[in-house]
Amino acid sequence: MTIQSILQSLHTIQEWQENTYRHLHANPELSMQEVHTSAFIKDTLLAYGYDVHTIGGGIVGILKNGEGASVLFRADIDALPVKEDTGLTYASHITTKDAHGNPVPVMHACGHDMHIAAALGAAWALATHQKEWSGTYIALFQPGEETASGAKAMLEDGLLEKIPKPDLALSQHVLTTPEAGKVGVKAGAFLSSAASLKIIIHGKGAHGSMPHLSIDPIIIGASLITKLQTIVAREINPFDFAVVTVGSFQAGISANTIADSATLLLNIRAYDETIKAKLIASIKRIAIGECQAGGCLQEPTISISDNFPLTDNDEMLAHQVITAFENYLGKENVVSYPAMSASEDFSYIPRAFNIPYLYWGFGGFTKDQPIYANHNPRFAPAIYPTLLTGTKAAIIAIMTYLKHE
Ligand SMILES: [Zn+2]
Ligand SMILES: [Zn+2]
Repeated sequence: MTIQSILQSLHTIQEWQENTYRHLHANPELSMQEVHTSAFIKDTLLAYGYDVHTIGGGIVGILKNGEGASVLFRADIDALPVKEDTGLTYASHITTKDAHGNPVPVMHACGHDMHIAAALGAAWALATHQKEWSGTYIALFQPGEETASGAKAMLEDGLLEKIPKPDLALSQHVLTTPEAGKVGVKAGAFLSSAASLKIIIHGKGAHGSMPHLSIDPIIIGASLITKLQTIVAREINPFDFAVVTVGSFQAGISANTIADSATLLLNIRAYDETIKAKLIASIKRIAIGECQAGGCLQEPTISISDNFPLTDNDEMLAHQVITAFENYLGKENVVSYPAMSASEDFSYIPRAFNIPYLYWGFGGFTKDQPIYANHNPRFAPAIYPTLLTGTKAAIIAIMTYLKHE
């Protein structure tokens, strides 16, 4: 009954937790700039008695409480360059500046504010109920998830040496399905691996009336974009999952000038690292070939960024946590998820520790609420019951592995 009694105690912090969520929502910070958010998390964990470390822009709170397993639970903390359009009383009016000094609106459009508030609630519960469990609890707050930079930054800043080695890692995300109040879990490959690519085609600019003096990068780029769509259609097994998207194609500024170069931005997704490697190799081959066919004097410049690893849920953890969710949230509130084409960077950390990992979702929208997807300017999950469900799910999963009656 230990877990049940911990869950029942959550009502005592409900108001604080909801206010915390509103505060975080109104004060979002972009990836790897989470200064105030980190400070808030740090102060809160210190007040709960955690041993707190700042690592790679993230915060790790450690609670050593006798013999037993060491369990890591992670929440991501960054927001997005999105202009909020929810009309909420606690909407964000924050703008920051980009590298060129231009204003950039900031919004918690992916619900990471919900993740922080839920993880702080779980941190409170574990600190307050120390007599009822034993082991080590590690609360990890990760920066820069949206740009796939935060997990790597924490590793580069010595995470492996600075904290005790966990036996397993857990994390969660608020999503548009299932309905608020429910959780969704999938064993095995859950979120796709992803990467972004930038291709610069080096042409030769000329007057628009003199095409024979140019090497037109727009013609080469147009052909390249069409050809790139044959990778999934012709080179990948139809039973395997792969996506190749050209999200941006920019060249030239006027009607009567042939551009000197063209820049394409691509995004790719796969559930298998070998398929991801195949996509990248094919993109490079086709880009080089198209530039050669178009008469470019130079090979295209190709760079890779936003490299997200596969999120591959450990089968055993998945089954154990599903059983625990069913016991404490009710069978009707636990759904099984399909694989999703979204991506996440936290897997770098459990991989570096060589420990099993589980990532699940919880619903953010009630039946009578309009649903706007994550990253939409109107993304506005219902605080209740979403925050309570996220907090409960975190505690149930964590406590499954900490020693208790
Ligand atoms: Zn996101
Ligand atoms: Zn997210």
